[in-house]
Amino acid sequence: EMYARKAFITGNWKLNPQTKDEAIELATGIASAVTDDSPCDVALFVPFPYIESVQETVGDKVIIGAEATTPQINGAFTGGVSPVMLKSIGCTWALAGHSERRVIFKESDEEINEQCKMLIEHDMNVVLCIGETLEEFEKELVGAVCEIQLKKGLAGIDKKDLDKVTIAYEPVWAIGTGKVATPEIAQSVHETIRGILKGMYGEKIADSTRILYGGSVSPESVDGLVAKPDIDGALVGGASLNAEGFGRIINHES
Ligand code: PGA
Repeated sequence: EMYARKAFITGNWKLNPQTKDEAIELATGIASAVTDDSPCDVALFVPFPYIESVQETVGDKVIIGAEATTPQINGAFTGGVSPVMLKSIGCTWALAGHSERRVIFKESDEEINEQCKMLIEHDMNVVLCIGETLEEFEKELVGAVCEIQLKKGLAGIDKKDLDKVTIAYEPVWAIGTGKVATPEIAQSVHETIRGILKGMYGEKIADSTRILYGGSVSPESVDGLVAKPDIDGALVGGASLNAEGFGRIINHES
């Protein structure tokens, strides 16, 4: 490979755990699994109220990010959390476009694009999540859906800023269902995504951008997935809530 991409294992806690003490306990366990021999960078996307305590707990072993952002600064956006607020507490990473945000919170591709642009404008890093529904998968629309979500999500984002962008491919039918995509299916979509990035930004950027797989990743399935050439790591939901299991995912075969 011309451009080595360091593996990236990331967790998404969603609306868990329910207390700060539990969050700190879980973060402590996860941080202790990260050693100099761990084959990857590690990040956790956690609920807003825990960001600072968890950051303190893990130090520089684990990147801590927000699960969502509101792409506005100041004003009448009740419940919103802006990138600037996050940056002011030392948090420089966030997810954008998770399927639960798209479906439950009705975030459009345009809003997700605003979030990505706003994060980058403030020199922060974004993990843009894309992926098709089961219906789209069955109709063989995977490539088309990924292309639309990528092009709309990254619209207006300059080549020079792509080092702040990570892509997560998360088929909706695999999220929280226990139905992990096979390494072969995931690899073929990741290859397609890298091809789309190449068309948008050129080969060098396409080769250096990390593309993570998400959707029911477990300690059992991680090795087969990350062994594939275009799968650079994972975005892990349920299995990131167990320190031992997530530790095994972090220290996967490489
Ligand atoms: P899961 O969630 O690992 O529980 O399927 C993944 C995600 O939603 O990011």
